[in-house]
Amino acid sequence: MDWVALEKKYFMSTVVRAPLTIVKGAGSYVWDEQGRSYLDFVAGWAVNALGHCHPAVVTAVQQQVAELIQTSNHYYTLPQLKLAELLVENSCLDKIFLGNSGAEASEGAVKLARRYGKLHLNGAYEVVTVTGSFHGRTLAMVSASGQQKYQQPYTPLPSGFINVEFNNLEAIKQATTGTVCAVMLEPVQGEGGVNVPSPEYLKGVRRWCDEKGLVLIFDEIQTGIGRTGTLFAYQSYDVEPDIMTLAKGLGGGLPIGAIMAKDKYSVFTAGEHGSTFGGNPVTCAAAYATVKYVIENDISRNALDMGRYLTERLMRLKEKHPNMIAGVRGKGLLIAVQLNGDIAGALAKRCLENGLLVNNVKPDALRLMPALNITQQEIDEAIEKLNTAIVRLGSSDQG
Ligand SMILES: *Cc1c(COP(=O)(O)O)cnc(C)c1O
Repeated sequence: MDWVALEKKYFMSTVVRAPLTIVKGAGSYVWDEQGRSYLDFVAGWAVNALGHCHPAVVTAVQQQVAELIQTSNHYYTLPQLKLAELLVENSCLDKIFLGNSGAEASEGAVKLARRYGKLHLNGAYEVVTVTGSFHGRTLAMVSASGQQKYQQPYTPLPSGFINVEFNNLEAIKQATTGTVCAVMLEPVQGEGGVNVPSPEYLKGVRRWCDEKGLVLIFDEIQTGIGRTGTLFAYQSYDVEPDIMTLAKGLGGGLPIGAIMAKDKYSVFTAGEHGSTFGGNPVTCAAAYATVKYVIENDISRNALDMGRYLTERLMRLKEKHPNMIAGVRGKGLLIAVQLNGDIAGALAKRCLENGLLVNNVKPDALRLMPALNITQQEIDEAIEKLNTAIVRLGSSDQG
């Protein structure tokens, strides 16, 4: 079958796909139709926390899907209660709302902060966000995300967001007026190119929010569930958010999102927010199995250790190819390789040809976000493939 032609015929063209049809996955590997294997350092965009089709997730889903699939939230169901207890008892937050995706979670978090503003901050409603941030694709989250390329096609944008410079506390202070109710940040920016703020910045923002009574929202959709080396990224910065959103890694591959908040900020009342599919038994069973496995097997620790190892190996690759690699940055297993020039697309293509999946997050940067249970041996294999891809790209450049 000509999948490329079929896709072109039937789909709205919102994505540039790699020339690869994936038919099977197990652990950190996927296979195409011809049975060729690829080492996966994209992991469904940092979603497959335990790799592809982890037995803990597969078993949980198989059992639940045969038992009960959907009821609506008018009734109590057990998987969502178990998941809520697990996440609340292992975080600094007290209450949860379950949805289906990241954008829905961050949008809900903004609604919650606005609700708090209406009730307790004289009707303040504006949310300060930063450049390079990514909070999702709904109209409001496009307005929240500080990236022109996502905003420009849809102007005029919904109001109520102020985008200020990333990693600049003074900019947040200057944007704070009587109509601001919240600051929303990713503890480490993911989609924006893996940008790590200074620890003093996040501490400073926390202090500023306390001083002004603002709500601090951490979008941990990408950083949460072990990705940066602790169960939640806020833990490594020693800064607690008032509201936190989760999604990507939460469901072990299944679509689920969550808003979590401290008691003081859990101000929704019945009917003020909702979701038809949110909290359904199947995705909650998958999320419960994933989070429980991550906690019980200290997978966050593996992300920290393997993140260090991968960074070290990448730094050695940089020494070997200083003309290609300019730097390595990141936290845990959320890592970017900064390249010299706009060669990320070409390099990702060479990696694919070589059996390695990577994400060209920027024209001049690759993002690596493998499964959190990745092994040293798999990292060695990825480095070897990346090295070959770099060499091949270099020689093709020369002629
Ligand atoms: C991916 C992502 C989102 C959006 O999640 P979707 O599930 O694609 O809607 C929001 N915030 C961050 C930090 C993300 O990485």
